[in-house]
Amino acid sequence: MFDAILVEKPGDTQTVSLTQAEEAQLPEGDVTVDVAWSTLNYKDALAITGRAPVVRKFPMVPGIDFAGVVAESSHPDWKPGDRVVLNGWGVGETHWGGLATKARVKGDWLVALPEGLSMRQAMEIGTAGYTAMLCVMALERHGVLPESGEIAVTGAAGGVGSVATALLSKRGYQVAAVTGRASEAEYLKGLGAASIVGREELSGKPRPLGKERWAGGVDVAGSTVLANLLSMIRYGGTVAACGLAAGMDLPATVAPFILRGVTLAGVDSVMCPIARRREAWSLLAAELDLDKLSALSVELPFEAVIETAPKFLDGQIRGRVVVPVAPDLG
Ligand code: NDP
Repeated sequence: MFDAILVEKPGDTQTVSLTQAEEAQLPEGDVTVDVAWSTLNYKDALAITGRAPVVRKFPMVPGIDFAGVVAESSHPDWKPGDRVVLNGWGVGETHWGGLATKARVKGDWLVALPEGLSMRQAMEIGTAGYTAMLCVMALERHGVLPESGEIAVTGAAGGVGSVATALLSKRGYQVAAVTGRASEAEYLKGLGAASIVGREELSGKPRPLGKERWAGGVDVAGSTVLANLLSMIRYGGTVAACGLAAGMDLPATVAPFILRGVTLAGVDSVMCPIARRREAWSLLAAELDLDKLSALSVELPFEAVIETAPKFLDGQIRGRVVVPVAPDLG
């Protein structure tokens, strides 16, 4: 038996509990992992509350990422005792995830815990931080460099936004942190933001083109926020878009693309190829200031995950939320 948060749907209504499951219930996979740390991400909060149809199969263990120690493996790359990290691949959506003391997954999905990071630190980074790194890599692939000019990061006080702000400033970019929470200004400046922009500046009805303000952007919001951001990107700039915190729609025009050569670069962490994942994780281990990292994360007891999920969606939580599932593992 092992401890797990289990999302079930016996009838029309979803239920969720912290309970015990049997190892025989674990899904197929060639590696079994003792989970040490997991996290509470936006998607996990949606899965636990049922506010969006994230869970595709019931019963489901949520948790789109984890760090742990290999317990059993028939995969050539992994042996018992190896420390591993997993992000995405449908884990926590279609395949049992990290909010449990055991997980069984495909060995091809795992990344070795980078040198110099503890399992807790890997989860302080988590899917949000890894996605933030993918966004930074996308900006650079499209030629947006520190000397190009200021970069706007939306949802800056959230998980992806916080890490994106810290990573960009470490690389020498000037960051304009866009936030709906003016009270987080000091926190954001501590992460390296050069300026704070109120979310309301990107919340009005988007115009096809606005004043050229930023050389690039990292957007977690989508919808009106992304449409406004695109209209304010300087000639030849790029926005890396990864989220939908403001909505799934995009009420924009093609004007920024065809009149200013702006690029909208989509970023997906879930099915991202393994080589790019490894690159992102090794850059994170090398570049992220670990003191800043611990300043942007809070620890949430495993037993408190279910009751905290709605608060997370209501924007009451700042930065990253790490969950000690079996922290004695390291
Ligand atoms: P968080 O909840 O930690 O952060 C989201 C932030 O967005 C909030 O803190 C808030 O920032 C801002 N926000 C909330 N509501 C709105 C709104 N209505 N309009 C504008 N901004 C808003 O979530 P994460 O950082 O973990 O994830 C952010 C987004 O990225 C989510 O949509 C998530 O699903 C997506 N995501 C996508 C991934 C991918 O692979 N593409 C991977 C990981 C996440 P503030 O308080 O500063 O305004």
